[in-house]
Amino acid sequence: MNKNKITRLSLGTVGLTIALGLMTACGGASQSKEKQSEASTELKETPKRELVAFNADSAFRYVNDQVAFGHRVPNTPEHKACGDWMIGKLKAWGYITSEQAFQGTDYHGKAITGRNIIASLNPEISNRILLLAHYDTRAVADHDGLLDNRSKAILGADDGASGVAVLLELARSAKARQSDLGLDFLFVDLEDGGQGGSDDGWCQGSIFWAKEPHKADYKAKCAILLDMVGGKNAKFCWEAYSKTYAAPYLYTLWDTAAKLGWGAYFVNKEVGGLVDDHVSIIKGRKIPAVDIVNYDSDRENGFANHWHTQGDNLNIISKETLQAVGETVGTALETKLK
Ligand SMILES: [Zn+2]
Repeated sequence: MNKNKITRLSLGTVGLTIALGLMTACGGASQSKEKQSEASTELKETPKRELVAFNADSAFRYVNDQVAFGHRVPNTPEHKACGDWMIGKLKAWGYITSEQAFQGTDYHGKAITGRNIIASLNPEISNRILLLAHYDTRAVADHDGLLDNRSKAILGADDGASGVAVLLELARSAKARQSDLGLDFLFVDLEDGGQGGSDDGWCQGSIFWAKEPHKADYKAKCAILLDMVGGKNAKFCWEAYSKTYAAPYLYTLWDTAAKLGWGAYFVNKEVGGLVDDHVSIIKGRKIPAVDIVNYDSDRENGFANHWHTQGDNLNIISKETLQAVGETVGTALETKLK
């Protein structure tokens, strides 16, 4: 995603009509900030560990496996091999997968073909939740402190691999425990190839899927996007589009995190809107979507220091962060979001 867009895009650009429609669909059950912080204080004192187990060792291995392919820049053999590996994993766990090819552009504006990958749990169930993450990695490290590094691709251990890894582990464990949830795992391509400071080129896979979902007239109760969910000391705040268009789901996730003792990661704090794949889902399909993303307005540039640098490698990945996110999402799916 592009940091520069945060300040330039106002929430108004998504449109009030969509906002009203979605908030009505959500039942208007948003809680006040006061209630939220009261609840979190209470819950901190009596943390409950009633949860759906999440194996962070397994998730970490999936980060490692993706990084081992090298840079997964679209239209490269490494990117294709990684996508094929993801499909292989999902199939081995018993999923029927589908792929969507679409026309897009790479970082330099050259026409290329993107590929979205989808796997569904209990496709016959109409009550569904969409889970998504991007699996492509950025062709340039344009925020690296060293000029020489800026033209080189990033490894994307966090920006790309971490969200995919948590989704893969959620997919594996849901099958293993024969979950009765209706889940769709959407791995989108061509998210991270936009030009810094421009609105063009970002989130191409999710924009395409929103126009042409894998199932005609696709509906889901809500969507959860995982982006950069593996960094050490990550902070997940209330991203503005998520709070405006999916407040009840956002509060449910953050409340679940507090109950599980992950309040240091899931912070009850509003931050600005990010143009990320969840916006495509909100705008294109009017599905309330929450972005769980490592972004904190207290930091100099909002994102973690490794964002779009050569520092986005395995060294900055924390099993505890993966655990916090996986356990929170898995527990919320099987309890309150059901
Ligand atoms: Zn990125």
